[in-house]
Formats: sequence, structure tokens, C-alpha cells
Amino acid sequence: MNSPIKTEVAIIGAGPTGLSLACQFIRYGVDFVIIDKKDDITKFSKALGVHARTLEVYEQIGIAEKAVSQGTIAGKARILEGGEIRGEVDLSNVGKGLSQYPYMLVLEQSKNERLLYDYVLAQGKDVLWQTELETLTQNENGVTTTIKNTNGETSTIKAKYLVGCDGAKSPVRHLLNLKFEGSTFERIFYVADARVDWKFSHDALQVCMAKHSVVAFFPMPGENRYRIVGAFPEEFSKDEGDVLYEEIERRIKEEADLNLDISQVNWFSTYKVHTRHVENFRKGRCFLAGDSAHVHTPAGGQGMNTGIQDGYNLAWKLAFVLQGKADEKILDSYNSERLENAENLLKTTDQIFNFAAGDAWFTNLIRTYIFPKIMGTALKIEAVRKEFFRRLSQIGINYRGHTLSRHGGDKNFEVKAGDRLPYFLMDGVSIFDRLREPKFHILVFSDGENDFHEIENELKNDAMDFQIIPLYPQVTEIFGSEKPFMILLRPDNYIAFLSSEISAEKVKNYFREIVE
Ligand SMILES: Cc1cc2nc3c(=O)[nH]c(=O)nc-3n(C[C@H](O)[C@H](O)[C@H](O)COP(=O)(O)OP(=O)(O)OC[C@H]3O[C@@H](n4cnc5c(N)ncnc54)[C@H](O)[C@@H]3O)c2cc1C
Repeated sequence: MNSPIKTEVAIIGAGPTGLSLACQFIRYGVDFVIIDKKDDITKFSKALGVHARTLEVYEQIGIAEKAVSQGTIAGKARILEGGEIRGEVDLSNVGKGLSQYPYMLVLEQSKNERLLYDYVLAQGKDVLWQTELETLTQNENGVTTTIKNTNGETSTIKAKYLVGCDGAKSPVRHLLNLKFEGSTFERIFYVADARVDWKFSHDALQVCMAKHSVVAFFPMPGENRYRIVGAFPEEFSKDEGDVLYEEIERRIKEEADLNLDISQVNWFSTYKVHTRHVENFRKGRCFLAGDSAHVHTPAGGQGMNTGIQDGYNLAWKLAFVLQGKADEKILDSYNSERLENAENLLKTTDQIFNFAAGDAWFTNLIRTYIFPKIMGTALKIEAVRKEFFRRLSQIGINYRGHTLSRHGGDKNFEVKAGDRLPYFLMDGVSIFDRLREPKFHILVFSDGENDFHEIENELKNDAMDFQIIPLYPQVTEIFGSEKPFMILLRPDNYIAFLSSEISAEKVKNYFREIVE
């Protein structure tokens, strides 16, 4: 056995979750070792949708622009029924005013992993490929794992913490004996990447509202190339692995009820959809993130994005604890914040999925007749548009009511402690451009009448920076306050503390009670 590798954090799995966590650790200066049993990043397209919140995270490591330039902005969604267009909505700017990225980006998982992996390499780190986790033990001082490479050589990693980013079958979850309860949909789903020739233009996500389910055609790079996703009926008796491609093609044609030719099939797969989450995202010094902690239906393309957000939530907490800037107790907030998010996510993705794949007559009626007629009109209503985007893009995820979210004084703000900082422009530039330092940020929203330098001098340190922001009309409208106020922003740009009273003591109290 080789001599032990010592590190601060061991990351098991280099999918999108593990790689993005590694990127965050680089930002925070945390030492880590990341292993994966594969020999490289994924070769498959898998996840296609990259949401605004993920791009905001990418922005902090300087890869958002590259992602946008390599992907395609989802332009339109077209509802097809009975072979004809029944409705069309423009999605290209659906999140206008809510994010620097007011759309969903279509960029394959393989390309996301490439961007993240290139960042890791550029910072002088690498993944230990072809290296598999075998055992795991932990005590109050750290976690010890044995790992094995393809030559059969074993070694040990001794880390202070471990994060299992090892996918839905998660050996880490099994070794920790954590339950992964939920259910499995009876129906078999198919996915195929193929060329489709038909009368519709390639500029839209085409959704066929069929009698028994939805068949969706996601435009992909390349002439007339689409990702086709749909389901077999419940009475279809084959097992996932036994389905022939011809059966999938027959099913697509039957359900879509369209004149179309499918050719040049690059990849197809069938699978059963599980909807499960782990009972606790943490056990001692070990954490789970991404698919190892939650799996759900593909509705809304949330999986990869959620794993990236898990890592983003955990990274700063571990960094602050390891660097002695925060007490271990803040690590508990990872489970409470992300478990609640996973529970909500499973509920909503199940609801959408039941609507898309449900077979009851009432669901059929809504899906084929009512939904196509109302969808376009509904999205023209400002409040509906905003709510739709907040949910889809993950910018609406909040940690209100959790331990790290506190109000001081006035609670009548439109925005609450626990919310992601709303997006606004400062001199034409996104506020998030000013928040790239991996620290807490104190934002004082000022009407210019007072000088806050004394407070700034008292608070500014290597864990916290300080910014004065004019009370622009846009700020007043978003926050619902015409008077000066103060925000303490967490390093992941969530509001830790919101107060109408601007005082250094209030911030110090927050740190004393919650962080230190
Ligand atoms: C067809 C399809 C379409 C999808 N579409 C979308 C979409 O549009 N949007 C979206 O957000 N999500 C989508 N998803 C889901 C998305 O692919 C997953 O949520 C995502 O891959 C989860 O990332 P992860 O890093 O948590 O896990 P994984 O990607 O599964 O990575 C886990 C890694 O751990 C490694 N590993 C496992 N065991 C060990 C071990 N013992 N030792 C070392 N390494 C180990 C594996 O080799 C793997 O590389 C889709 C999935 C599929 C299959």
C-alpha cells in the first residue's frame, strides 16, 4: 500500500457536482483530493439545461461567458397537438430583470464538465481518475478512505472531511448507512439523440401533448438534431434493458401523431424514473451532494443544476470551518437548507411529471386541450412570468426561516433573510460583479446622508468586505424600502441578515451567535 494522502477534503466522484465543488474549494483556498472510478469526464450529453443560478455560480469562476458562447439560448417552446402548432412561447428573455442570464442555456453535461475540469486543471489541480473508493471510516478527527486504482494498487486518503458526489448509486451513501427513500414510476422512459426531419423549424423546444404522455423534442447543435424524451404506457411489459430502438421509434411516431422521419440515432436509452432523497445530507464528517443525495424526474432539467447548488452551499461553510473563521455548528445548516430544497424539488418535479406522463382522462384533457391554449397567455402576465422563471432557474430557492437567516428590526421588506440577493444593476453593471470575493459582504444601501466609514473600519476584515450602494429607484422597488438599510450577505450570495438599522454591533452579534 502507498503512503497515505493527507488533505482537508476528499471528494468522491468527478461528475458535475464533484467538479464544481472542487472549483469552489480552489476559490476558497481549501486543499482537496478528488477521485473518480471513470477514466475521464463523461462522454455523454446527459443533462442539457443549464439554469440562471448555475450560470451565476459559473460567473464567479470566470466560466459563464464560455458556457454561454458554447451553448444555445432556449429560444421558443412550441406546443404541438394533433400534428399542428397549438401554441408558442418566447423563452429567450423570460427572466428579464431577474438575472444576468434571463434564459435557460442548452449546453450538454459533457461540455459543462469540460469547462469545470479545465478550470481545475488551469489551477494546477487534477482528478485522480480510475481510482475507486473502497472503504470509509470516520472519527472525531477525520475521515479515512481506502482507494484502489485500475492497476490494483491501494492507498489511503486521510481527510478532515469527505463529500460523496458519487451519483445515484452512491457507495458513500451505502457505506454511511443512510436511507434513500422514495418511489419509482412504473412506466419506462426513453431518450434518444437523433436527427428529425419534419415540417417544424429547429429553433424551438417542441412539446407534443399526446393522449397518454408528453413527447418532447429538445433542439441540439447540428442540423435538425434533437434529444427526444417520452414514455411507454404502463401496460408495456418489457424491462428497461430489453427495449429495442425500433420500439422507441414506433412509440415516438404513435404518440407524436406527426409526419416525421427519425435518422442518425447517436444514442438512445431507456430508464425507470426514481424519486428519492437521502434522510440526512450529513453524517459526522461526511456529506452527500448531487445525485447521491437526491434523484427525481427529469422534469424541468434540475438534476445537474441542483448538484452544483449543493456544492456551492457546502463549499463556503467547510472553507470557513477549516480556516477557523466559523464554528463547526454552521455545517448543520447544509443539511437543513439542502434537504428542504430536495424535498420541495421532488414534490414539484413529481407534479410536473404526473402532468406530463399521467394517463387519467382529466390530465389528458388539460394537457391536450386546455394547457396549449393558456400557456402563451399566462406567460405574458408579469407575475406569472417571474414566478415561472424563479422556479425553473433556481434563483427562487430560499432558506427563509433557517438558522443562518436573521432579521434585525423591520421585517416588512419585500425581500427576506434567506433569499438569494436579487439581481440589479449598479451603473449598468450587475451587482454580482462586485461580489466575486469569496467572503461575507456587508451591503449598506444609502441615501447619501450619512458617512458609514466608521462602521466599515470596524467590520472589514479578511472574512468580510464592505460596500455602499446608492438607494437607486430599482433597489427601492425590489427591496420595498425607501429608507437606508443594511444586508449581510453570505459568501454564496444569500442574505444572512437584513436590517433597517445600520449598525456594526448588529453584524457582530450575528457573527457571535451564528457563525463563531
Ligand atoms: C438522459 C438524462 C438527461 C438528463 N437531463 C438533465 C437536464 O436537462 N438537466 C439537469 O440538470 N439534469 C439532467 N439529468 C441529470 C444529471 O445528469 C444528473 O443529475 C447529474 O449527472 C448528477 O451529477 P453528479 O455529479 O451528482 O453525479 P454523476 O454525474 O452520476 O457523477 C458521479 C460520479 O461518481 C463516480 N463514482 C461513483 N462511484 C464511485 C466510486 N466508488 N469511487 C469513485 N468514483 C465513483 C462516477 O464515476 C461518476 O463520475 C439528466 C440525466 C440523464 C441520464
